[in-house]
Amino acid sequence: THDIHVIGGGLAGSEAAWQLAEAGYCVRLSEMRGGGTMTPAHHTDSLAELVCSNSFRSDDAESNAVGLLHQEMRTLGSLILRQGDIHRVPAGSALAMDRDGFSAGVTAALEAHPNIMIVRERIDALPDGPAIIATGPLTAPGLAQAIGAATGSDALAFFDAIAPIVYRDSIDMDIAWFQSRWNKGEGSDYINCPMTKEQYIAFHQALLDGEKTEFREWEKDTPYFEGCMPVEVMAERGVDTLRYGPMKGVGLDDPRTGRWPYAVVQLRQDNATGTLWNIVGFQTKLKHAEQVRLFRTIPGLENAEFARLGGLHRNTFIRSPELLDPTLRLKNRPNIRFAGQITGCEGYVESAAVGLLAGRFAAAELAARTLTPPPPETALGALLGHITGAAEAETYQPMNVNFGLFPPIPGRTKKADRKKMYTDRGRAALATWLSSLPTGAPTAADNSR
Ligand code: FAD
Repeated sequence: THDIHVIGGGLAGSEAAWQLAEAGYCVRLSEMRGGGTMTPAHHTDSLAELVCSNSFRSDDAESNAVGLLHQEMRTLGSLILRQGDIHRVPAGSALAMDRDGFSAGVTAALEAHPNIMIVRERIDALPDGPAIIATGPLTAPGLAQAIGAATGSDALAFFDAIAPIVYRDSIDMDIAWFQSRWNKGEGSDYINCPMTKEQYIAFHQALLDGEKTEFREWEKDTPYFEGCMPVEVMAERGVDTLRYGPMKGVGLDDPRTGRWPYAVVQLRQDNATGTLWNIVGFQTKLKHAEQVRLFRTIPGLENAEFARLGGLHRNTFIRSPELLDPTLRLKNRPNIRFAGQITGCEGYVESAAVGLLAGRFAAAELAARTLTPPPPETALGALLGHITGAAEAETYQPMNVNFGLFPPIPGRTKKADRKKMYTDRGRAALATWLSSLPTGAPTAADNSR
C-alpha cells in the first residue's frame, strides 16, 4: 500500500517522490523504462536520466535566474541538486555532471529510501487516488490519451513550435512602436519593427541561407501544423509569402514615416507583467547562434536579448495556466497533480523544481495542511506563477526560468545592477516564506509514523 502514486521516474518524478518520502509518506514510483517500454530519447533504465546535455546551466546565484533556482532547491533539500553537486564535473560557472554517476546516484538514493517503492511498469490510465503525473515530454501514448480525455481534447499539445522571446527592455523603442493592426483591440497590443524593401529582401535571403538543425529520426513522422510552420519553411514558399503572412505591414502606421512599412516584424506580449515579448510567427529551426545573429538585423532588435530562442521538437504538455490550480492540481480532478516538463516548464532543473513543489504541496495536503506557494519574487515562485496563471493560456509554450518571469524591479536601475537586485530580492523573499511556514510544515520528523 502507498499514500501517493508518482508516475514517471525522470527529473520531476524522482524529486517529487524524494520530497514526499522525506516528509514521511509512502510513495509508489512507477517508471516504464526497465519494465518493457522505452522512450525515443532515453538510453538507459536509470531514474533521472539526462536525455541530452549533461548541464544544469549556470550555477551563479548572484546574477542568473537558474543559478538562483539551484540555490533555492538546495535550501529545500533537493535530491536532484544534491546528486548534481556530488557528481559535478568542471564546466566554468555552469553546474555540469557526470551523467551516468548522477543518474545512478539518484536511482540508488531512491531505491534505498524506506518510504519509496519503485515499480517498473507503464501506467495507461489516471489513478483514482492521490497521484503526481511526471511523465515528461515523451509521455507514453496511452497515458497521453487519458490525460487528453480528462483535460479536453485540444489541451495536450503534441508538437512544440517555439518562437523566440525577447526582453522588452532590450527593444529599441526609438525605432519600434506600439500599435495593433488597424488599431484593433487596445490599439497598442503589438510592438512593430519596420522593414524597408531592401531590408526585407536581405532578411528573406538570410532565412533561406541560415543554418538549420536537422530533425531527429523519430521526429520526422510528426507533421507540421499549418499554424506553426517554421518561418524559414514559409520563406521557402516564395519571396512574398512572409510579406503577405506574419510580416505584412498593412494597417500599421510607422510614426517615423507616417506610412505603412514594406514589411514588419511584430512582437506580442508573452507574460502578464509585460517584460517578455514573443516574435509573432517566428517559430524556427535555425541554429541558436544563427537566430541571434539574424534576428538582431531586424530594425529595433539590434540589441535584443533573448529569454528563449526558437525551436521545434515533439513535446507533450498541458495548458497548465487554465487547467491547474496554484498548487499544481488538476482543477477538475484534484486528486491528480502534474509536475515536470508536462506542465510546460522547460529544462532539467525547472522540471525537477516543479517536481519539488508538487511533492511538497502533496505532502502538505496529505498532512491536511495548506502550503502557501512560494512568492513570485523567488525563482520557484516565478516559475510556478508562470505555469499556473501568469502566462497566456492560448499561446502557452514551454519556458525556462528567467528574470522576465519575476515581478519587475520598480524604478530605473542600471542594467548591470538589476540581476543582483533580482537575486537579492529573491533570497529575502524565500527566507520570509520559509519563516512564515507553520512549524508543522511537512518535515520528516513531523510526519514520522
Ligand atoms: P523525463 O525526465 O522525461 O521523465 C519522465 C519519465 O516518465 C521518463 O523516465 C519516462 O520513461 C517515464 N514515463 C513516460 N510515460 C510513462 C508512463 N505512461 N508510465 C510510466 N512511466 C512513464 N532539458 C535540458 O535542460 N537540457 C537538455 O539538453 C535537454 N534536452 C532535451 C532533449 C530532448 C530530445 C527532449 C525531449 C527534451 C530535452 N530537454 C532538455 C527538456 C527536459 O528538460 C527534459 O526532457 C527533462 O528530462 C524533463 O523532465 P521530466 O521529469 O518532466 O521528464
